[in-house]
Amino acid sequence: MYYVGVDIGGTTIKAGIVDSSGAILAKSAIITEKIAPEKQMEKVGEQILKLLQSSNLSFDDVLGIGVGCPGAINGKRGIVGYSSNLKWTDFHLKETLERVTGKSVRVANDADAATLGEVIFGVAKDYNTVIMLTLGTGVGGGIVIDKKLYEGTNGMVGELGHITLRANGLPCGCGRKGCFEQYASATALIRITKEAMLKNKNSALWQAVDNDLEKVDGKTAFALAKQGDKTAIKVVDKYVSYLSEGCLDYCNIFRPDAIVFGGGISKEGKYLTDKVVDYLEKYEYGYRGTPKTAILTATLKNDAGIIGAASLVAEEF
Ligand SMILES: [Zn+2]
Repeated sequence: MYYVGVDIGGTTIKAGIVDSSGAILAKSAIITEKIAPEKQMEKVGEQILKLLQSSNLSFDDVLGIGVGCPGAINGKRGIVGYSSNLKWTDFHLKETLERVTGKSVRVANDADAATLGEVIFGVAKDYNTVIMLTLGTGVGGGIVIDKKLYEGTNGMVGELGHITLRANGLPCGCGRKGCFEQYASATALIRITKEAMLKNKNSALWQAVDNDLEKVDGKTAFALAKQGDKTAIKVVDKYVSYLSEGCLDYCNIFRPDAIVFGGGISKEGKYLTDKVVDYLEKYEYGYRGTPKTAILTATLKNDAGIIGAASLVAEEF
């Protein structure tokens, strides 16, 4: 039997047929059109049917359809409460796609689905309770407890970027101040890098970006730190301290078996995770004999959306 995973994004909708080992048999992408979501779901139904036909399968071979969608999702009812990317409000996605396909549908926020994907098919499959932090433009994430996605009361769960790291700190888009996201996202790392460069005109960071601050990205400080530039090393250490302080909070709340980093910054891999582990060791992470948490890098990468969505179905079997 197979799972179908659908990853809805602001510009494309990716769908794939996934087997019980998490391998993708066939996948495709269609454009996210500016049409009523009900009409869009009819197109997703056709997209899935074509994929099944290309794999010599039918809907009878499918256990269910998982859908990852950006925004505030009520997973239990399968409703997209609000998605600013898609401009969908109170859309009954589960009900609509079930009517179109005749299969059972499960919907979750895309970051939550990606977290479950890493636990069922990815780097964290040997772990039961896992927190994932997606280190990108913002900080997203998900919570899996005993191999089950934690969905909260009516969605809006796993807003892991919006815990307070600094009381009365930097303003955040969510309306609060000092959120973790303002210190641990790629956007934050870029800001910290620029601030350090302005104070250190002799840093090799300047040559790395042709003396153009606008060319600083999330990789700049890491690349120069690896070459031994003192300013870059300080930037990376500062970033690691912020990220690790957040991880310590998640360790103290959940004591998860693992924390998985995803998103652009996670591409630093072991260079980043080793530094975080060093910080955690130094600051009471194995506090009074509490179990230590593995720090891992997400492995599903480009297919994380499809496989994560498929894992919503796999989790139930
Ligand atoms: Zn916030």
